[in-house]
Amino acid sequence: MERPPLGPAGIVVDLAAVRANVRVLRATAGVPLIAVVKADAYGHGMVACARAAQQGGAQWLATATVEEALALRAAGLDGPVLCWLNGPGSDFAAAAAAGIDLTAHSVADLDAMAGAFAGRTTPARVQLKVDTGLSRNGAPRAAWAELFASARAGEEAGTWQVTGVWSHFACSDEPDHPANDRQEQGFREALALAEEHGLRPQLRHLANSAAAILRPSSRFDAVRCGLAVYGLDPAPGEATDIGLVPAMTVTAPLLSVKDLVPGDAVSYGQRWVAEQPTTVGLVPVGYAEGIPRNAGRPDAPDQAATVGIDGKWRPIRGTVCMDQVVVDLGGDRPSPGTEVVVLGPPGAGGPTAQDWAEACGTINYEIVTRIGGRMSRRYV
Ligand code: PLP
Repeated sequence: MERPPLGPAGIVVDLAAVRANVRVLRATAGVPLIAVVKADAYGHGMVACARAAQQGGAQWLATATVEEALALRAAGLDGPVLCWLNGPGSDFAAAAAAGIDLTAHSVADLDAMAGAFAGRTTPARVQLKVDTGLSRNGAPRAAWAELFASARAGEEAGTWQVTGVWSHFACSDEPDHPANDRQEQGFREALALAEEHGLRPQLRHLANSAAAILRPSSRFDAVRCGLAVYGLDPAPGEATDIGLVPAMTVTAPLLSVKDLVPGDAVSYGQRWVAEQPTTVGLVPVGYAEGIPRNAGRPDAPDQAATVGIDGKWRPIRGTVCMDQVVVDLGGDRPSPGTEVVVLGPPGAGGPTAQDWAEACGTINYEIVTRIGGRMSRRYV
């Protein structure tokens, strides 16, 4: 769904890039692709990106919450959908009725699902998640046997079909990290144990974007990719160049230009002070739009995040405000109304999400996922 404008800045999402990224990921991995569209498709718009991912050939969609998965169905998206984050109010019955694959992390989850599935005449679809090293959700090793036994009993009772067994990497963006081998080995052990319990899941999956690209042995029956679908590099500095194209561009109009003399201070806390005469421009995006408040790096101004104006990279100065940032124009005077490229793909005339991540000491995932606020969103 396009988002109406509440402010002057806007997000453009290139759905052709999403489709192309899915195609290239499928060709690279050589197994079915589960496109992860949780968190509003990492800030890109869940329904439109899910549709584009399917058009590009993604066989599965995945969300974190049950509610997100139901929203995909409500928007008319068919095809396999997996979700995994179970909350106290999660409507397992509605998910099962909508043909969504739920994830059970524990016998308690299975018990709750069995209760919700009472009265169904056909088996629901349930996947099992095992924890192999993230200590997030997923059954810990000591609970695998119990989970598999309970899952198998539910299969025999006709309550559900165990359609998948899966796990998630902690360090796939560091391909040489020893945890990757340990986790993959642990996953293989979990699969063997599942089989010993009589389970025959069709879909065994472990790899996220970085592993799908960098670790062929982890691809199993499908790869579960989010970030790479949106064209961002899941492991900067590693051999991940498969031709992904970033799908998001954020632009805003330059609002005004003013002169500063030495000693003039910028923004709350006056944490940046001009040392020489310069000009500064006002750009209408702030932390309400998802711009990190420290992007101007008052502690290290030479590492400040930038925006692109007329092909030049202009550093943010002082503290990012709720609605606005001030950028240093170095004496230039672009006209108000000039397009400011806040972020976009290489060649779009501004920094990339990865550039922002480096300036702000975070990861590109966080930059794009937080982008939003009052910005309109348009799909091309
Ligand atoms: N699988 C799970 C369980 C996740 O939480 C995520 C994202 O965080 C993904 C897959 C996709 O990861 P990536 O965006 O690195 O491909």
